[in-house]
Amino acid sequence: MTPQHAQPLAVDTVVVAAGRPPHAHDAPVNPPIVLSSTYVGTGTVVDGDRAYGRYSNPTWDPFEDALAQLEGAELPGLMYASGLAAVAAALSLVPVGGVLVMPQHSYQGALVMAQEQSAKGLLTLRTVDIEDTDATAAAIRGGEEPAASMLWLESPTNPMLEVAEVAALASVAHEVGALVVADNTFSTPLVQQPLALGADVVLHSVTKYLAGHSDVVLGALATSHKDLRAELLHYRSIHGAIAGPFEAWLALRGLRTLALRMERSQATAGRMAQQLSEHPAVELVRYPGLPGDPGHQRAQNQMNGFGAIVGLQVRGGKEAADAVVQALTLWTPATSLGGVESLIERRRRHANEPDSVPENFLRLSVGIENAEDLWADLERALAVAAARLEA
Ligand SMILES: *Cc1c(COP(=O)(O)O)cnc(C)c1O
Repeated sequence: MTPQHAQPLAVDTVVVAAGRPPHAHDAPVNPPIVLSSTYVGTGTVVDGDRAYGRYSNPTWDPFEDALAQLEGAELPGLMYASGLAAVAAALSLVPVGGVLVMPQHSYQGALVMAQEQSAKGLLTLRTVDIEDTDATAAAIRGGEEPAASMLWLESPTNPMLEVAEVAALASVAHEVGALVVADNTFSTPLVQQPLALGADVVLHSVTKYLAGHSDVVLGALATSHKDLRAELLHYRSIHGAIAGPFEAWLALRGLRTLALRMERSQATAGRMAQQLSEHPAVELVRYPGLPGDPGHQRAQNQMNGFGAIVGLQVRGGKEAADAVVQALTLWTPATSLGGVESLIERRRRHANEPDSVPENFLRLSVGIENAEDLWADLERALAVAAARLEA
């Protein structure tokens, strides 16, 4: 769909230029939304036809094309109805009875799905501390037990912001013949490209940064393996968790500003992390951009920036953390992340969040507002919470 260009384009151009209609006279600059549940065919054979709206929709194509270019995938991406629908499709690649190695702090929905499949006896789940490369490598190899069929990577993890050694772990997984799936939601392809680091499949909750405006729920996968893509496409067609055309169109619209949004959000996140780490009401800050963060060196090796999610532990426990959230007026107390507006939440309020996430842990999704305004709001809320504790 995208015209051929004389030279390879930088990613911040690709987000703007990919998935555009050809430069034909009077062509629209943006691809249209196609609302149709079925397509005119030959009536005799279906080979090569769009056939039916659950199999394909022209509105998906430009986004799938753009995502593949951004992630360096040789085949078009695949959109799904949500990030978790993409997770379900990716997990379907684990053979029945296979071993899945997954970070203990993976996105909780992915973890719950894996736990449920394990409880049904469909797979064996080995959760790992993904920061610990030796322990994770041992879990992949299995020792006396069977080796992994799939390594699930999330780096940095949601919500603890642990950074995995992606290339090293991917190569251990490949040694034992395991597939590597990387959830790249936190980083976006502008900050990290897992396929280039050795992953076989890259996953996004498009809901977050790619769409970027907290107005759609969507997911996507991309891979360069023909057979894997065919399986993932089949899974989508048969299980039916497809993207609505309007949502797909909004995702592409959001993607156009991804580079600008990430640049701004990351710069502000770095500043917030630094200022928070110097604040007396703060016990601990997790942000891979901080020189003292355990993941800093690894992040520098494999990422182009540090993302815009900051983890924060407030002094005074759960009550103090809740008091900070309640005192904020600009930061919105809400789950989710990756939108233009800054969001904050205490993760353990969710029943499914693992116990190893501290009760006083707040996850900040830094948006694109003015950094001074964001800091003033946080500083005031931290002071309110500190004063409450002293009273
Ligand atoms: C939100 C999220 C998901 C799930 O995506 P949905 O679009 O909410 O279904 C998966 N992985 C990560 C890292 C997420 O943040």
